[in-house]
Amino acid sequence: MNVLVINCGSSSLKYQFINSDSEEVLAKGLCERIGIDGSRISYQPKDGDKEETVIPMPDHTVAVRLVIDKLTNPETGVVKSLSDIDAVGHRIVHGGEKFASSVIIDDEVIKAIEECNDLAPLHNPANLIGIDACKKLMPSVPMVAVFDTAFHQTMPPKAYLYGIPYEYYEKYKVRRYGFHGTSHDYVSTEAAKFLGKDRKDLKIIVCHLGNGASITAVDKGRSVDTSMGLTPLDGLIMGTRSGSIDPAIVTFLAGKLNTDADGVMEILNKKSGVLGLSKVSSDFRDLEKAYNEGNELAKITLETYSYHVAKFIGSYVAAMNGVDVIAYTAGVGENTSLVRRMVSEYLTYLGTNVDPEKNKLRGETVILSDPGSKVVTMIVPTNEELAICRETVRLVK
Ligand code: ADP
Repeated sequence: MNVLVINCGSSSLKYQFINSDSEEVLAKGLCERIGIDGSRISYQPKDGDKEETVIPMPDHTVAVRLVIDKLTNPETGVVKSLSDIDAVGHRIVHGGEKFASSVIIDDEVIKAIEECNDLAPLHNPANLIGIDACKKLMPSVPMVAVFDTAFHQTMPPKAYLYGIPYEYYEKYKVRRYGFHGTSHDYVSTEAAKFLGKDRKDLKIIVCHLGNGASITAVDKGRSVDTSMGLTPLDGLIMGTRSGSIDPAIVTFLAGKLNTDADGVMEILNKKSGVLGLSKVSSDFRDLEKAYNEGNELAKITLETYSYHVAKFIGSYVAAMNGVDVIAYTAGVGENTSLVRRMVSEYLTYLGTNVDPEKNKLRGETVILSDPGSKVVTMIVPTNEELAICRETVRLVK
């Protein structure tokens, strides 16, 4: 089966075209600046050169049309015609409490996703635009919605409730939802597989550390707690997001900066995190370089970041009353050995025994701890597109 995986943002559309039998990526690319001047599409077929084309894309329907044209181009395409696209998998950010797993998209599902729009006003409407564009151009191709929140719907109330009046949960569904669910599910599955074990027999802590970052406690294959909350701003310090802070900071800063809550939210989302703390960059490669050059603020930033990661891991050891596997994933988790080293130093009491030499490895599924360690520490590269492809096939077949 050939599955087109779509991750649609308000002005962008990331795509991968995957053969589900071989799990090979036949082609992938990105449409950027949709609806803005200077829009462009990149296209990378598996055996060919990457192309970049600057071309007007007034809306997402034009973008999807261009993706289909690229995939079916007689010279550089990877399939002959539209009929070779067997299914489309859409990444949807927020499924609220309505979706605890992926679903085949129909009118009712679209309506239910729309009803979650106010929980993710930047993401869900954009995801829906992607669905709409694909429906227009491929009306008979089955489509599946895969939600970032679905995997976390197994959390118990004690993990998802905030200490605010219960009526706000009842009336407005204010609660912890968690995100990156596709990744946490995929990584915990792959970790168990690599260890030759059943996920149902393991307590796994998945550290998804990318631009956005979240940690999940996966007990017997189910998410029982996760660090992101009602929105992806909660939890860990991230590239540009603050993570959890004293909520009173919002009104305090609004007063000092002569702005309102929205003004402070903008700062907490875009100017905070390791970027705001370090004054260097949101990119860990830049931070590591600055650290190695003796930049004091970069050092404090990396220490603060890692300390927070370690504290979340500690709290999830408590939540599960133990841990068997700690798995690092995403850009920082897979690549930044300095962060993994700093975090590991807090966890020796668990019997993690991370080997400093193995910890230098990156970007591959590998065990970092010594054989016989009480807790296995490992890297498991995430692959959200493949996870969406697998979900799509599972439902469409
Ligand atoms: P997202 O998908 O959330 O945008 P990624 O998972 O791609 O983020 O992670 C992006 C971050 O990972 C980058 O900002 C960078 O800090 C870090 N990163 C990516 N590749 C490397 C690398 N080779 N070495 C060190 N850090 C890396």
